[in-house]
Amino acid sequence: MAGGGARPGTGSDAAVLGRPERLAAVERARMLLASSAIPLERLARLAAAGGRAPVGVISLLDAEREYFVAAHGTARTEVPASLSLCQHVVNTDVPLVIDDVDAPDAPQVPSAVRAAGVGAYAGFPVHLSGAAIGAVCVADPAARQWTAGELSAVSDAASTVTALLAKQDALTAHASTLVSPELIENIRNRAFLDALLGSLDTAVVACDAHGRLIMFNRQMREISGDVGFDSPDAWPDRKYAHHPDGRPMHTSELPLMRALAGEHVRSEPMLMRRGEQPDRHYLCSGRQLRTEDGAIVGAVMAIHEVTEMVRATRYKDCEVAVARVLEGEPPLAEAGRQVLQLVIETLQWPYAELWLHDSERNEDEAELRRWATAAAVVVPGGPDLPPAPGHRLARVASGYGHLMWADDGVRDDGSSGPRPALAVPIRSAERTLGVLTLFAEAVHDQRGLVEDLLSGIAAHVGMFLERRRSTQLAQALARSKDEYIGLVGHEMRTPLTSISAYTDLVLEDPALADDLRPMLEVVHRNAATLRGIIANLLDLAALDSGHARINLNPTDLSDTVAAAVTAAIERAGADAPVVTVEITAGVRVPGDVPRLRQVVDNLLSNALKYTPADGAVVVRLRADGTGATATLEVADTGMGIPVNERTNLFRRFFRGRAAKSASIPGSGLGLAISRAIVEAHHGTLELVDRPGPGSTFRLTLPVSPSGDAAEVQPE
Ligand code: ADP
Repeated sequence: MAGGGARPGTGSDAAVLGRPERLAAVERARMLLASSAIPLERLARLAAAGGRAPVGVISLLDAEREYFVAAHGTARTEVPASLSLCQHVVNTDVPLVIDDVDAPDAPQVPSAVRAAGVGAYAGFPVHLSGAAIGAVCVADPAARQWTAGELSAVSDAASTVTALLAKQDALTAHASTLVSPELIENIRNRAFLDALLGSLDTAVVACDAHGRLIMFNRQMREISGDVGFDSPDAWPDRKYAHHPDGRPMHTSELPLMRALAGEHVRSEPMLMRRGEQPDRHYLCSGRQLRTEDGAIVGAVMAIHEVTEMVRATRYKDCEVAVARVLEGEPPLAEAGRQVLQLVIETLQWPYAELWLHDSERNEDEAELRRWATAAAVVVPGGPDLPPAPGHRLARVASGYGHLMWADDGVRDDGSSGPRPALAVPIRSAERTLGVLTLFAEAVHDQRGLVEDLLSGIAAHVGMFLERRRSTQLAQALARSKDEYIGLVGHEMRTPLTSISAYTDLVLEDPALADDLRPMLEVVHRNAATLRGIIANLLDLAALDSGHARINLNPTDLSDTVAAAVTAAIERAGADAPVVTVEITAGVRVPGDVPRLRQVVDNLLSNALKYTPADGAVVVRLRADGTGATATLEVADTGMGIPVNERTNLFRRFFRGRAAKSASIPGSGLGLAISRAIVEAHHGTLELVDRPGPGSTFRLTLPVSPSGDAAEVQPE
């Protein structure tokens, strides 16, 4: 060899390679090299340059492999020990120099080395703690004569690596003597603390006196993103912290900073808003940390996530508020505006519209009309409002019949990204009544939850529209019924009056044949009944429509009731139940005497009509304890009214089953008229819910304290 190196020929010596001290030294060298700042790549390059070779490698060799810790001119990172030329260097612990691996005098080089394109090789051992642990080597694909200068350059590189390793080893050994037991204890405590904090459900964060984070657990990292141990201003996700109303939080407003400033922060709400991601809500509690002698050392804060609770409460409140608005039966446009306003405030969306099908019958999409809009206050520098109205969206959603998102809305402010829009059809049982269209800048809540909320709101609006429609229909029906009754009543009254008048005349004729008289009397009686029914019907229609005048004047109700009882007993004749009266004298009410008499007559006639002759009727009148109302009760022991008939009792034309099957005459209008009259007096008329046979009707009227005359029109 040109530089006086050894030549391999003895093969590998497993005993040397596998020696434990040597392997320990290799392992230590590997760690030292990994953690040190030794410029290994540069040294490998220098070795190649000094040896004027295309390839330079610094490698370590354990029992099985040669690892390239740094390499220049080759992409390989390791070779098995059996194929490595380095193993010869390590085994013999002397340099190995080969000018031509194919020369007849060349050592036995594994064929794989030749195959790998190595024509010439020169390797010098690297040591640690006296053991050869690897080599610095150069290689050339072509055979060549290594010069002394080239070999000494490679040798220098190997010596440099050995020297640097020794120095690093010594430094590390020294450093380890500096690690005090307290430090080790601290590190242990720290690990314990980390484990403890990591096991909590609560996020915990602490800062030092300068506001630099000194500790946070896994849960905190989940909330605030990847925080570093920095001052709060430098936290990467600082900008996501907001007040619950959506205003960004300044650094000094952060609960941890407020705690550091000395405030005892208790359950302070905080909102984390990251662009399109769903909002998350937290409650923060924190306090300042001080040493025993009062020096501020930092602050600590615990954070609970309350997103679900906050959202659920917000949505519930919104739904309740919407239901309340609609309960008040406001005009349609006003109802729409208020509902939309509540929804955009809850979702913090900028704009919403209510579209309704114009015609009640025609569901033609072209007739969708915008009834109401609501827009958030325009934030300075915020998006332009309102955006393009959602007519097309409403039409599509109405045809589709289901809730739909549209994310292709273009932003008016020219900023990039689509504007999410949502269309929610408002449905009745069988058709689409309209559509709510809502526009967002960003959807901060989970879309599924937003959909649930808006489906609920649309259902409320749908019910409101249906209610409104049925009220309108009922009013129209009542109007046409009254018109009908008026028309028919008047038309029938005139011929009936002539029938009655002529039968009267004929009955008065003494020449009337005896066999015709009873028949004519039936005609006369039935005509009278019909006239009575028509009179009642017209009366009821007049009371309902407010055309009947009720004059309220100071009235002695006791007198009216007493007179009605006397007349009723007289009319009933001897074969009638006993009537007992308990009338307090001088009960005065503001009233219309003929009308009140009509009511009392009706109650008495019913009591006598529906009670057998051996029964009893009691009439009681009194002013109640406070003197504010007068109460009249008409009780009987008659056939009574079954529970299932009670709700219909005051409906016009209602007749009880028992009354009908006993063929007791009646039209079913008396109670309806009586109640209309009583209500025009601001009183009540009801059946007393009392067990036992018979029935009791109770009439209650307000007593005018002053007794002043008053005139009211029924409403
Ligand atoms: P009418 O008595 O002409 O049928 P009303 O309106 O006065 O009409 O009464 C309606 C129905 O209520 C009666 O048909 C009867 O079935 C029932 N009713 C009213 N008063 C009594 C009563 N005192 N006892 C039993 N049933 C009664």
